[in-house]
Amino acid sequence: MSQMFGSARSDTLFLGGEKLSGEDIRNQNVLAAQAVANVVKSSLGPVGLDKMLVDDIGDVVVSNDGATILSLLDVQHPAGKILVELAQQQDKEVGDGTTSVVIIASELLKRANELVRNKIHPTTIITGYRLALREATRYINELLSQPVENLGKDTIINIAKTSMSSKIIGADSEFFANLVVDAMLAVQTTNSKNETKYPVKAVNILKAHGKSSIESQLIKGYALNCTVASQAMLKRITGAKIAVLDINLQKARMAMGVQINIDDPEQLEEIRKREYGIVIERIKKIIGAGANVVLTTKGIDDLCLKEFVEAGVIAVRRCKKEDLRRIARATGATFISSMSNLEGEETFETSYLGYAEEVVQERISDDECILIKGTKAHSSSSIILRGPNDYTLDEMERSLHDSLSVVKRTLESGSIVPGGGAVETALNIYLENFATTIGSREQLAVAEFANALLIIPKTLASNAAKDSSELIAKLRSYHATSQFSKPTESKKKNYKNYGLDLINGKIVDETVQGVLEPTMSKIKSLKSALEACIAILRIDTMITVDPEPV
Ligand code: ADP
Repeated sequence: MSQMFGSARSDTLFLGGEKLSGEDIRNQNVLAAQAVANVVKSSLGPVGLDKMLVDDIGDVVVSNDGATILSLLDVQHPAGKILVELAQQQDKEVGDGTTSVVIIASELLKRANELVRNKIHPTTIITGYRLALREATRYINELLSQPVENLGKDTIINIAKTSMSSKIIGADSEFFANLVVDAMLAVQTTNSKNETKYPVKAVNILKAHGKSSIESQLIKGYALNCTVASQAMLKRITGAKIAVLDINLQKARMAMGVQINIDDPEQLEEIRKREYGIVIERIKKIIGAGANVVLTTKGIDDLCLKEFVEAGVIAVRRCKKEDLRRIARATGATFISSMSNLEGEETFETSYLGYAEEVVQERISDDECILIKGTKAHSSSSIILRGPNDYTLDEMERSLHDSLSVVKRTLESGSIVPGGGAVETALNIYLENFATTIGSREQLAVAEFANALLIIPKTLASNAAKDSSELIAKLRSYHATSQFSKPTESKKKNYKNYGLDLINGKIVDETVQGVLEPTMSKIKSLKSALEACIAILRIDTMITVDPEPV
């Protein structure tokens, strides 16, 4: 068993600190985990509600995304923090399923605590839970998942729609799902191991105020929210050779504190010339290496712009570092950040340059943007989001990011499962039956694992203001019929894809309804939920260590 060190207090004195153990600590941890899960519970599903979070300086975030909500909460309890981290991990690794994972973990924990109260040892529960997870994974892979190739692009669009159905862009899910799938298909690349990859980072999301959300647009290429540094510059270059810099192209200045005494005004003029001379030398080196597009995160002096204009080079200043990092990756350029002097013998190598078919400044909606099209190393696409204000645009961006991740997972792993509680209910029936085949105490834990999964369809139904008890009973009976009808029956009933239709309060075939999720995300969320639950369950003592006396 593990020990937890934290700030909770009890009356027992222990080695100068305080100690809380056994049932007390377990109850406290379970309560904390439930409190965290309760915050996000009402956000689950297509009819889940949003949360508004206001920080101490009055900044507001409105979100439906479990990971975002929890990361903004100031959770103090160590067990609560484990669930917050769980949501963040799920967000990082899968991109979606963050609310579900927290709800499942807290339910598993609640049920485990009940078992402990009934004198089942935590180690037995952990073994039982692990066994149930192994069976569940096998059952999903063998019986519930379907390969995507058989289902076509419409399926991928449906998956994107499912992931955004609970989000702010859910009302226009048809439009945004198409946008997301096209954006992801445009950035398809093959890596050195000949695997097809869909990097989410290759899709750049720009946010612009004004117009309605369905006037958002997809652009092939990387859109940079900047303009050329001088009106006299070219606005279009084909066969672009791009230098990506984190270098200041402004008049060189002497370091602070350097004092030079001169008695001749000509010497002062010399110093001024030299200050410009240094930066002009740098620019000449960059142009000399063959660059015809220069992007920098820092500034470019007006006097230096002349050099670029005369050489027919497009120069763009004050770009965002993150944008340039991505452009460097997409064009195959080296992001030069440390070589801040380029002085003396130091040269700008041609190999530092990246390549693109075209760099052009275009007016998109109302704004001028620089577009980098046909990038050499891997293709990129950009989505320009339109919306009324920052809260909406930020939440739209988070929702799109979730959908992009889900589409990536689906395309890369190539298999899907039905959503709307279908998988959880099928597993509930299967595991309940499987538990009866185990002739030891672990049976109880497997049965509890099975019941814990029902929390997903139950929460989905109650969030949709439907009678969850009746719907779940009906859904379970469909799955039981499906699993236990004998293959010899003339017309074998197959309801394994049946889940909840939350709008009409009915049981439907989710593959027909188009409510689909990537298999990988479902399995991953079960695994991570269990790991978090076990981490908390293993704690049997909490010791509050007193701060050292000053
Ligand atoms: P998460 O952060 O866990 O992804 P969501 O709020 O996105 O949470 O809800 C996901 C759950 O909602 C999944 O279980 C999914 O199957 C279900 N769901 C999404 N769209 C629908 C729909 N149209 N009908 C029924 N269930 C849906």
